[in-house]
Amino acid sequence: MENLVEMGKEYIFNNYGRIPKVIVKGEGSYVWDSEGKKYLDFVAGIAVNNLGHCPKELVEAIKEQAEKLLHCSNLYWIEPQIKLAKKLVENSIFDKVFFCNSGAEANEAAIKLARKWGNGRYEIITMEKSFHGRTLATLGATGQEKFHKDFLPKVDGFLHVPFGDVEKLKNTIGPKTCAVLLEVIQGEGGVNVPNEEYLKEVEKICKDNNLLFIIDEVQTGMGRTGKRFAYENFDLNPDIISLAKGLGGGLPIGAILAKDEIANVFKPGDHGSTFGGNPLVTSGSLAICEKIFDDKFMQEVVDKGEYFRGKLNSLKEKYACIKKVKGLGLMIGCDIDINAQDIVNLCFEKGLIINGIAGQTLRFVPPLTATIKEIDLAIEILDEAFGEV
Ligand SMILES: *Cc1c(COP(=O)(O)O)cnc(C)c1O
Repeated sequence: MENLVEMGKEYIFNNYGRIPKVIVKGEGSYVWDSEGKKYLDFVAGIAVNNLGHCPKELVEAIKEQAEKLLHCSNLYWIEPQIKLAKKLVENSIFDKVFFCNSGAEANEAAIKLARKWGNGRYEIITMEKSFHGRTLATLGATGQEKFHKDFLPKVDGFLHVPFGDVEKLKNTIGPKTCAVLLEVIQGEGGVNVPNEEYLKEVEKICKDNNLLFIIDEVQTGMGRTGKRFAYENFDLNPDIISLAKGLGGGLPIGAILAKDEIANVFKPGDHGSTFGGNPLVTSGSLAICEKIFDDKFMQEVVDKGEYFRGKLNSLKEKYACIKKVKGLGLMIGCDIDINAQDIVNLCFEKGLIINGIAGQTLRFVPPLTATIKEIDLAIEILDEAFGEV
């Protein structure tokens, strides 16, 4: 089906570096390309397919909803949207939910909410190596120069400090600062896990300075780190979190969650989204939440994450090019001192999909439903790949 790839090149923007294969089918932890080759998918749509590909619960829910009501508008109340909001509130420390369609859009909502709450204070401090999205404001928030250079000028009001540096953060707060925005574990920046004291310290600094503490949980949320939301791992108490990737298990949906006194700053007309909280996606997301917000399921993610990191550490003993294994739950990174893309490509040929980030880090974000057997298979393929380079 080389034809399709050629056709794609002819008709679609060239803004992604794509592997020249067409993925046509998915089931559980596996996907198939148009030539019938099967791959173990440990990228899972970049931490999106948290229950694997085409999970029954999700497919059933959207089939049923599709025959009832696909879309109306937020001019009216929407049943699955209300039920999903209730579910998210009951499983978090938050009171209210705003729905949108993507991670960037969720962060945009958080930024607008912080600015209105700031009432004249508008600066938001974010972290170096962070990633918050591709729209202009979220790009402004993103602390990586390479994403900015062709799209200047940057949206005003974002200051970046090194992730993990409390002093720099304190010294950057000024009279116009209204919020601090960070990822609990930096995803695109390299699966960077900070120490617990740091995050607690940031929270305290926010409190002491009357700043909102906003956590971007677009990648870390929805069970990825072995907790419903990553802030639970560090016993944090943020004011706002943003969600997207895993929230719909493959459906395009984003959200922010906030405490009442902050959420109530938005009045009718302040913000909105045509598709936000649409019946189809919220019915599907509800099915995802039912499954993920379960202590036993979360414990399995913790256990499988530990198992996986243990196996990666055994590979580290064997191959000198593996420098560090890191992560939490099933959000796992592996620093290597060779080109990550070489390993990614070798694994792809051998039927394992993984992802390279920040040049020399391998990222593993498998479905949370991946089995020990599948983790063993991934390790076997990685072992072969490392053996060949
Ligand atoms: C992927 C990601 C985003 C952007 O989400 P989109 O749905 O692609 O807009 C924002 N923040 C983090 C932490 C992400 O991983």
